[in-house]
Amino acid sequence: MPLTVWILGDQLLSPHPALQSLEKQVLRQEIILLLIESREQAQRLPYHAKKLVLLYSAMRHYADGLRAAGYRVDYRVASNITEAITSHWQEFRPNRLVTMAASSVRGRRFQQSLAQKLGIATHIIPNSQFLSGVYDPLPDVEPGQLVRQEQFYRGMRRQFKLLMDDQGRPVGGTWNYDQKNRQPLPKDLTPPEMIRFEPDALTKQVMVEVGQFDHLTGSAAGFDLAVTREGAQQAADDFYTHRLPYFGTYEDAMRQSAPVIFHSKLAAYLNIGLLTPLELVRAAEGCYYDGTAEINNVEGFIRQVIGWREYMYWQYQRLMPGLGAENYWGSANPLPTFFWSGETRMNCLRQVIQRVLDAGYVHHIERLMLLSNFCLLADIHPDQVYDWFSSAFIDAYEWVMAPNVYGMGLYADGGQIATKPYIASANYINKMSDYCLACSFDKNKRTGEHSCPFNFLYWHFLLKHQDKLRKNYRMARMLHNLKFLDDDEKAAVQAQAQRFVGAMDN
Ligand SMILES: Cc1cc2nc3c(=O)[nH]c(=O)nc-3n(C[C@H](O)[C@H](O)[C@H](O)COP(=O)(O)OP(=O)(O)OC[C@H]3O[C@@H](n4cnc5c(N)ncnc54)[C@H](O)[C@@H]3O)c2cc1C
Repeated sequence: MPLTVWILGDQLLSPHPALQSLEKQVLRQEIILLLIESREQAQRLPYHAKKLVLLYSAMRHYADGLRAAGYRVDYRVASNITEAITSHWQEFRPNRLVTMAASSVRGRRFQQSLAQKLGIATHIIPNSQFLSGVYDPLPDVEPGQLVRQEQFYRGMRRQFKLLMDDQGRPVGGTWNYDQKNRQPLPKDLTPPEMIRFEPDALTKQVMVEVGQFDHLTGSAAGFDLAVTREGAQQAADDFYTHRLPYFGTYEDAMRQSAPVIFHSKLAAYLNIGLLTPLELVRAAEGCYYDGTAEINNVEGFIRQVIGWREYMYWQYQRLMPGLGAENYWGSANPLPTFFWSGETRMNCLRQVIQRVLDAGYVHHIERLMLLSNFCLLADIHPDQVYDWFSSAFIDAYEWVMAPNVYGMGLYADGGQIATKPYIASANYINKMSDYCLACSFDKNKRTGEHSCPFNFLYWHFLLKHQDKLRKNYRMARMLHNLKFLDDDEKAAVQAQAQRFVGAMDN
């Protein structure tokens, strides 16, 4: 009797853990590998066309690789997963189904329901796609207990012995290099061009198919991402060579003409299993020991991957489903329609939104300090922000989007994930980017004609939420500056913010 291994589309690991677990027990000929493209899942939101091309093309290439390795593969394009599994069952009559736990809560619930709902004997192996799925650095944390990313990160560094000396101390004598990092980009430094991958025949076929879906964000045209593990490894090598040496120093910098700056653009591959977190951080660590990248840059990257990424996954597993219903500020405004067109006079948002609509990618600081900063200051309802981010990005999946939007981006969880709300006025945007140079708004004006909306929205937010903000000692300096506004200016800020929000779509 055959046995089915169902491989989820975001678990394209080589080797796949479910196959590894069966290696010694079952002959390869007895295994049927099931991969499913569910059209219902693709319909859930107006996802970015390039994300679907990446996912479907990577799945089809992965299936081809398994066939070439001698496996029987049943690749189904179906209206939904239940239908695909049912028809697979009727056709192959396997005696059981083995699968790796999904990264999302919804996916896990579905897997757990299979045995009862469809009468299918199901064995779900633990998810080992994440390091924190294998090792929990904080196993004794109580529900509701506050945990900080730094605590989690140090536990991960120690466990995986990354940049640690023989005495268990961080190499270089400190855990972080923030003082060297977060510099604006000097005018004479031009970030390198990104590596591009010419679509092969299979990818072109997927682009045509996805091009026929009529509900998506952006376009499949111009797709230039890797779709295999080998391609993704090439993209990672390109990052280590050309951008890691500057990664930390300029990780907060923004520039209108350089969408990626020195970021890796690897999340899209990591999140579907074409790359694994440990291989990336080990390779980055190797660059430090080889002398090709300095410690502040390497530590900065390792922190993003085993600190922030793993921490977000860990918090997601801990805080869902409640996290997806949080609204600490009571925000209720609708997302302005310019998020779907890029048509706004604010140059920073216009550039960044147009880039998202085109490529499904902007780097972290633009996501945090432009897009979600604006949504937080303008009191946009968190669910609407969540849906937009989930739709528009090529690397968006529920486990990463929920903690980043409700937690880090909007602080809608009241501080369970981030230590403070990430809010800033035009002053920060101007310091870290060149967007204000080409903007018709005045970055220096708080109120009045041509004043930058980030300014009056920022002061309005501080005034409106000062009681809640006072509970957070990290906000003390920002609140202190309120004393420089007299009553007239406070009233003007509030009136202008309310007018602006009321007219956002006019
Ligand atoms: C509002 C908001 C929405 C976001 N949405 C997503 C998303 O849909 N998918 C996604 O993978 N990340 C998301 N992030 C986190 C982060 O912005 C992206 O991982 C990163 O920008 C991806 O680009 P990169 O690969 O060039 O990252 P780099 O800057 O090169 O960082 C290296 C890696 O670190 C990891 N990483 C860094 N920060 C985070 C973080 N906060 N959470 C998770 N992983 C992190 C990513 O895997 C990334 O590839 C979001 C952040 C915010 C504030």
